[in-house]
Amino acid sequence: MSAALVLGRARRSVLVIDEAMPRHLVTRESHGFLTRDGVSPSDLRKVAREQIAAYPTVHFIQEKAVRAEGSDGEFVIGTNSGESYRARKLLFATGMKDLPLGIEGLDEVYGKSAYVCPYCDGWEMQDRRIAIIAGSAFGMHLTRTVSGWTNDLALFTNGEALTDDDKEQLARRSIPVFETAIRRIESEEGETRSIVLEDGTEIERTAIFFAPKLEPGSDLPTVLGCDTADSGAMIVDEFGRSNTAGVFGAGDGASQKYQVAAAVAAGSMTAAMLNSELLEADWEMV
Ligand SMILES: Cc1cc2nc3c(=O)[nH]c(=O)nc-3n(C[C@H](O)[C@H](O)[C@H](O)COP(=O)(O)OP(=O)(O)OC[C@H]3O[C@@H](n4cnc5c(N)ncnc54)[C@H](O)[C@@H]3O)c2cc1C
Repeated sequence: MSAALVLGRARRSVLVIDEAMPRHLVTRESHGFLTRDGVSPSDLRKVAREQIAAYPTVHFIQEKAVRAEGSDGEFVIGTNSGESYRARKLLFATGMKDLPLGIEGLDEVYGKSAYVCPYCDGWEMQDRRIAIIAGSAFGMHLTRTVSGWTNDLALFTNGEALTDDDKEQLARRSIPVFETAIRRIESEEGETRSIVLEDGTEIERTAIFFAPKLEPGSDLPTVLGCDTADSGAMIVDEFGRSNTAGVFGAGDGASQKYQVAAAVAAGSMTAAMLNSELLEADWEMV
């Protein structure tokens, strides 16, 4: 939407095909974006849509893009309703999707007392009895990061083994570690109460930060030949250009920054570069 705003202001004809299932819809408040701290994700989108409506060349359809073909200057995108749309350029801001972690009870607390990003929700969870649920290497990183928001931490590796060095580091800081697989998370109305392990041990906790499993929101960039990183995200340069001419990427699906501010900044910058390519092509045609 950030790209649509910039392109609308550049008098470009823009079609935003959006299934409207952003990743943060699960959460009640979005934090850390200057001037919009604490608004709900749906409010964030609503205001964006209202402001973009001032630019008559930008149109929205709530559909899923399921087909992409063509090359720079003459792409075709097909949607789930069977419609096709022609476009000179394509910009994928299709985000990332959460894959199930298979932990019973996690869905009930996700976005209410279980989060993935301390910079987004650490303030709200500060000083709680926090469980970190993450495998060995990332678990240590996440535990160290969340230690900035509480002194009461416990690391749950859900069946993965930690190294002796990791265990020694945690012991020195009096952070308990549980390597047994998790059976379920107990909660009440979204508030985490405890973590129950496969051996029956129950550990009281009132919040969770966990490492999600993610996949790209769309595989269409790959269909068009765009290179991707191990995370599945599109590989783009600082102006959002992929290796496929005319195909751009911005936001979570083309970075690992996972912040609204970063996605908005990337959308804006990428739109300017996309417009610049169109201006250059039109200039050369005369
Ligand atoms: C629980 C949680 C809490 C968060 N809290 C914060 C916070 O407080 N502050 C913050 O800065 N960040 C937060 N984030 C991160 C933030 O949500 C993302 O960084 C941001 O939403 C990325 O924007 P995006 O446009 O790249 O992707 P998204 O917001 O995920 O949007 C992608 C859009 O593309 C659509 N789409 C995907 N594929 C297709 C297709 N084939 N056809 C049509 N549409 C498609 C999706 O439906 C979706 O609407 C949070 C994330 C989570 C999971």
